[in-house]
Order: sequence, then structure tokens, then C-alpha cells
Amino acid sequence: MDQVPSVCPKCQGEMIQGHALDCTYGGVLVSSWQEGPPKKAFWGGLKIPRRHSLLPLGAYRCQTCGYLEFYAREEFAPT
Ligand SMILES: [Zn+2]
Repeated sequence: MDQVPSVCPKCQGEMIQGHALDCTYGGVLVSSWQEGPPKKAFWGGLKIPRRHSLLPLGAYRCQTCGYLEFYAREEFAPT
């Protein structure tokens, strides 16, 4: 899919692709998007979502002003 930003909507700087990291006890993961508000788990932290309800996040950052734009699509899954 080619619907990604190449020019910053704030300052017209160059946008570069990146991703948001989740640093967990078991390793490092790509952050995901899930519909709805977060819900607390009984033992602390958040309720674990069903895998199929998650979409990996792609993050684009302006090299000039630092503006971030996120996209939640399967194409941003780790390869
Ligand atoms: Zn910018």
C-alpha cells in the first residue's frame, strides 16, 4: 500500500518510516493497535488481547520537527 506520508504535514520536512517498540520481559516487539479502551488485568498490567484483533503499528517521523504519524496495518508486521 502506498498511502504513507513522504512530506510532513506540519513543516514540509521529510518523513521517514519507523516503528514503535514494546520492550517486554520476554523481548522486544512491535507495538500493536487494538480497538477500544485498555482494560486492567486481575494480576496487574492489561488484559491480553486476542492475537487476531491486533494490528502492527507503522510510525513515520519528520526528520525536521519530529512530528509522528501512526498507521495500523498488517503490512507493518515484522518481516
Ligand atoms: Zn515536520
